[in-house]
Amino acid sequence: MVVMRTENYSIKKPSIEKLFDNLAERGKTIYAPKNNGERVLFQKIKNFGEMAGDYLVTANSAKEVVFPRYEKVFSYKKTEDGILIDDPADIPFPEVVLWGSRPCDAAAFIPLTNIFEQDYTDNLYSNRRKNLLVLSFSCDTCDEFCFCTSVNGGPGNTAGSDILFTKLSTGDFLAEIITEKGKKVVEENPSLFEASPTEEKEGNLAKVETRFNQDEIQAKLHELFEDPLWAEKSRACLGCGSCVFVCPVCSCFDIQDEAHGSHGTRLRCWDSCGFSLFTLHASGHNPRPDQGARWRQRILHKFRYMPDKSKVAGCVGCGRCSRSCPAGINILDTVTAL
Ligand code: SF4
Ligand code: SF4
Repeated sequence: MVVMRTENYSIKKPSIEKLFDNLAERGKTIYAPKNNGERVLFQKIKNFGEMAGDYLVTANSAKEVVFPRYEKVFSYKKTEDGILIDDPADIPFPEVVLWGSRPCDAAAFIPLTNIFEQDYTDNLYSNRRKNLLVLSFSCDTCDEFCFCTSVNGGPGNTAGSDILFTKLSTGDFLAEIITEKGKKVVEENPSLFEASPTEEKEGNLAKVETRFNQDEIQAKLHELFEDPLWAEKSRACLGCGSCVFVCPVCSCFDIQDEAHGSHGTRLRCWDSCGFSLFTLHASGHNPRPDQGARWRQRILHKFRYMPDKSKVAGCVGCGRCSRSCPAGINILDTVTAL
């Protein structure tokens, strides 16, 4: 992602809809928040009218757009001339727009990209991310599960977005152009973007209370590996994996080979460090034998191992894990207890 000096414009509400239509007319695949029963989910949509009118955050995260639930890594076929490999990363990836992401959704692409590109470039992820345009909208409301401001984020944070729109008191939107991709959108739609508004965005953002200091947590976690808190805070956990599947940063996956005689496919699918099978050895030994050890791993990975390695935490404070937990486990309870 090429980040440039932010340029500001004003855009009127009808022009926002027109921008969506222009992107759809250019054949872009658009994912946006859409009602699904009682939930709002990022889903593919074709018309502006399909979008959910009012939502805090979607129940699922935007990671599905670049890291699908399951996908083919490659397939192979033995022939008389040798083995033919079909690598899906060789096929051009479509241009995709993520519309209506929140600042925490966009910020999550930073640790997610670190995971998939830091030591080894995962072409499936990387090609999708390169072709993804992220058009986010600042938050003007929050709930008790939100804690973006505790993990270096915020309701108007621009990190990870190509353009961030913020609704102003006039009903118009401030459009902050953050990357070259965002600038291209302005260049392709010049009549929709007007001179920068005079109103600042700060007064139009949600007030998200800061609940902890991430640097302090990172430092404390070096000493708390054997703490009884892990067992205590995970006692109600059912090991269902819901918290991991909705998390925009969690990226554990499993690899499965499906072989059929002389041909086969290698697949990868989401997995979770909260599942007992995740670390079960063939011998029957499990180095993380109980839910406490698994919960500790999840917290340590996000708040210590990832920031130790790349200076960015593996949590953006979206609160999805806590909202979705059937056992009422709230990640904030653990982190603030630390
Ligand atoms: S959603 Fe709740 S019950 Fe399910 S694995 Fe996560 S913490 Fe455990
Ligand atoms: S751990 Fe929970 S709060 Fe943090 S990014 Fe993942 S889902 Fe959001």
